[in-house]
Amino acid sequence: MEKKIPYKTYLEESEMPKQWYNVRADMKNKPAPLLNPGTLEPMTAGELSAVFCDELVKQELDDTTPYFDIPEEILEFYKMYRPSPLVRAYCLEKALDTPAKIYYKFEGNNTSGSHKLNSAIAQAYYAKKQGLKGVTTETGAGQWGTALSMACAYMGLDCKVYMVKVSYEQKPFRREVMRTYGADVTPSPSETTNVGRKILEAHPGTTGSLGCAISEAVEVATSTEGYRYVLGSVLSQVLLHQSIIGLESKTAFDKIGVKPDVIIGCAGGGSNLGGLISPFMGEKLRGEADYRFIAVEPASCPSLTRGKYAYDFCDTGMVCPLAKMYTLGSGFIPSANHAGGLRYHGMSSILSQLYDDKLIEATSVEQTAVFQAAEQFARVEGILPAPESSHAIRVAIDEAMKCKETGEEKTIFFGLTGTGYFDMVAYQKYNDGEMSDYIPTDDDLAVGFAGLPNVNK
Ligand SMILES: *Cc1c(COP(=O)(O)O)cnc(C)c1O
Repeated sequence: MEKKIPYKTYLEESEMPKQWYNVRADMKNKPAPLLNPGTLEPMTAGELSAVFCDELVKQELDDTTPYFDIPEEILEFYKMYRPSPLVRAYCLEKALDTPAKIYYKFEGNNTSGSHKLNSAIAQAYYAKKQGLKGVTTETGAGQWGTALSMACAYMGLDCKVYMVKVSYEQKPFRREVMRTYGADVTPSPSETTNVGRKILEAHPGTTGSLGCAISEAVEVATSTEGYRYVLGSVLSQVLLHQSIIGLESKTAFDKIGVKPDVIIGCAGGGSNLGGLISPFMGEKLRGEADYRFIAVEPASCPSLTRGKYAYDFCDTGMVCPLAKMYTLGSGFIPSANHAGGLRYHGMSSILSQLYDDKLIEATSVEQTAVFQAAEQFARVEGILPAPESSHAIRVAIDEAMKCKETGEEKTIFFGLTGTGYFDMVAYQKYNDGEMSDYIPTDDDLAVGFAGLPNVNK
């Protein structure tokens, strides 16, 4: 008789990961280095440390060390909201009448409502340890700003958040959560920076973008004594911290004696997916096991499925290092889409390299289909998912339906990155039948590609 898998699998404190895993150590083709936009030479630790904390620079540049000890203080903080449960989606399986077995890892069980706290606390910890006064950052939809505010409050650091103006106005509650945790929140573009003033002059009335908010936050960090800049995704250090998601999942799967066949995650800047798949990808790279990995992105911002693999600017103001990644160009402005966390123009250089090496697959999905999946999931599994996470749900359901046709009993595992409580305007649009599905044309994309820097490396 088949052993009954529990609805939720948690880890004991003694089973919790004590180290993060750096998947780059097992990659044959390493991700391309960050380049200095002036000299086009690889960024040195010295150059990077003007922007980032020293310990995080070390993590960013380290392609070879497989494991990093998680400092005791961070382990303590993790205990407040981790482990996150590995859930067997029995109710969804039943609703779909599929022979597939579906599991998800839910990262929304903390006030910030997403996985972003996993890296926020690490970055705040290293800033504090370095004796810094504070950090600056940007936030789009607000999840990263919220997570960082929580982490900074805990560590006793100042936190300055540049919030994309349209979100600042449309998501007042996110803003108030950040302020409650003591953060200083400025709508971007703003008059407080040179780059903000320049952008406002060129585009009066603009409602801002992530790339522009990054430029402002970097300028403030590099021109204010005792401050550094921190970023919530894309960078290799962030994927390292997010490996906690995959490591916990792997231990939980081993505990119940299950091996997933397909692992699915939404991809914005790539940190949650990178973290989720890291230990499994490590096994695949070392030839110990095989898995299918699927990155899911919005059809409105298709960096992997329709982007170019090239060096690009990470921000609109072009003050950040150049990164080689699948990108739509730093000037690409995605159409209005409710998955704010998936609107970045580029993709983590680790995931980009893995994708280029055909070790992961990518697919894009349209917004209305994503919300149909979100609604279906919410009604049977009880959790109201974030629009970003629902991209993964969409593809997990599609895969499960394929199993129904073929009769295969595949084990499907996806990352449920967060809750949708702050996204009710999006749900309202969906419920009112007013959601649109704009997909950029090749001409739209050509505009973004035209702005790629001319780097022949
Ligand atoms: C930010 C965010 C994402 C995107 O994560 P990346 O790691 O940048 O791909 C996905 N889901 C939720 C809920 C988020 O807040």
